[in-house]
Amino acid sequence: MSVNHFERDGHTSSGSISRRWLNFEQDYFGFPLQIPLIEIQGSSEGPHGVILAGVHGDELNGIQIIHALTEMIAPERLRGKLMLLPVANVPGFLIQSRYMPDRRDLNRLFPGDKNGSEGSRLAHQIWKGFIEGTDFGIDLHSASYSRWNFPHIRGNMRMERVRMLARSFGPPNVIHSQGVAGSLRKEATRRGIPLILFEAGQSNRFEREVIDIGLSGIWSILVDLEMIDFWPEGLHRPAPVSKYYRKTTWVRSPAGGLFIPRAKPGDLVKKGQNLGEVRSAFGEVICDVKAEKSGSVLGFNLHPQVVPGRALYHIAYDEADLD
Ligand SMILES: [Zn+2]
Repeated sequence: MSVNHFERDGHTSSGSISRRWLNFEQDYFGFPLQIPLIEIQGSSEGPHGVILAGVHGDELNGIQIIHALTEMIAPERLRGKLMLLPVANVPGFLIQSRYMPDRRDLNRLFPGDKNGSEGSRLAHQIWKGFIEGTDFGIDLHSASYSRWNFPHIRGNMRMERVRMLARSFGPPNVIHSQGVAGSLRKEATRRGIPLILFEAGQSNRFEREVIDIGLSGIWSILVDLEMIDFWPEGLHRPAPVSKYYRKTTWVRSPAGGLFIPRAKPGDLVKKGQNLGEVRSAFGEVICDVKAEKSGSVLGFNLHPQVVPGRALYHIAYDEADLD
């Protein structure tokens, strides 16, 4: 991987790691809310990166990815700087919710507004403090609403540096997805800041398997950017990724009833393939759930109770070369 796009000039003398709380607005008692920040300053100058978890307050896997990363990186062996936000959406995290307490989605409010709603103010603080001026970003998410996501990278694959990050991360799947207006990846990349999103597992859980995939993907980026010059023992090296999917679609339930999944996330499925079935309260099969496209199963619904239109399987299709 060429590192030219991510480089900075100059030198620093010694590395350091700091863990501190940043003040943000106030809670219901008028006390300051605080956001945890881990800053790892390397021993020499190099790219600056930001890694965020918990932009959705109930998506927890990314927190452990950041914790593990912090334990593994010795500042004296790091080139450049990493800003790590293990819980970006503190107000949502405190109420164990995806959303801000006012029901807004923080990931629709970037780059934020310092005089706006509570979420917009938080988005503004994160944007000004960590996104603006960074060389690259990685945003860690998990599936919402009783869903499970097969580990994958989402990002704007029309941007060369985003493709470089995705290739380097080496996830099982890469999806071209610019994101909706106000999302961190959309607003960052439209301003020329390469930022990818890692989706893995489910909300409200620590899942070791997907945490390890996220950790090895981030480590691979740091090695390819020459910010780190070694590979830790026991950490799985991701396989090279050469393809990505340009489109995704949801297979929705044709009927109300009880959903029995057959296909698993990560499966390659063919158009017309039986992915599962919906059964009645008496246990009889009401209908099959069929793939409408040939592609890869990105995620699925974990909750058996379904109604017509309920999203059951997320399928990625329309494969293209990543280079
Ligand atoms: Zn999320």
